Amino acid sequence: MSAGYGAADVVHRISLDVAEGEIAVVLGANGAGKTTTLRAISGVLARSGVVQFDGRPMPTRPEDTVRVGLSMVPQGRGTLTELTVLENLLVGAAVRPRHEADADVEKWCGFFPVLGERREQKAGSLSGGEQQMLAIARALMARPRLVLLDEPSLGLAPIVVQRVFAALADINATDGTSMLIVEQNADLALRLARSAHVLEAGRLVASGAAADFLDDDRVRSAYLGGR
Ligand code: ATP
Repeated sequence: MSAGYGAADVVHRISLDVAEGEIAVVLGANGAGKTTTLRAISGVLARSGVVQFDGRPMPTRPEDTVRVGLSMVPQGRGTLTELTVLENLLVGAAVRPRHEADADVEKWCGFFPVLGERREQKAGSLSGGEQQMLAIARALMARPRLVLLDEPSLGLAPIVVQRVFAALADINATDGTSMLIVEQNADLALRLARSAHVLEAGRLVASGAAADFLDDDRVRSAYLGGR
């Protein structure tokens, strides 16, 4: 797949797989093309080449990718700050019958108790970490089989990042939801993920088991700033 803005491609002929039920991470420096990759997969941005989901061509419009089972948690969370927590959650379930949505509101308010406690409050009154949890819960309200997450740790305190990542691990283990996560926090993301990919200037330069990236000093120094 390739994608970009206007005539120029920003990501060039990248090829990656997310296996059913796995968490995969895409690492890379600022401007490497990580966000562009996610936006092209979800149909927000035009792409060329092949993207398949369950062996079928992935639709090219965002509303259709949601229908086949893809949800996105955008960078900056994308919460609708003037709407309540409950209204945000229901927006995520717009493609589903209302009685199913009501049941899932209870499910996610149970999983993230702070959302349950604040369901009638405006989303804009939540802390950054709480808004990230709301963005994740909203994406899950569509009952996706694959969730794309764009830098879920961005702007959050380390302890809050730990909580968000623990929640993602829990959701993946319990519901088997596949995830493709873009992250700059490489160490944390590699501990969460099973497979990892590194983007450099719009090209995929390494793919493999996340554990191998953590263990391999050469890979760490080449792609992860030696951390
Ligand atoms: P970051 O971590 O900063 O979000 P990234 O790896 O996600 O970085 P992208 O946001 O995908 O990188 O950006 C890749 C390239 O595309 C950059 O050179 C960026 O300037 C360019 N780009 C991003 N958005 C646009 C846009 N709307 N119009 C034109 N160029 C863009």
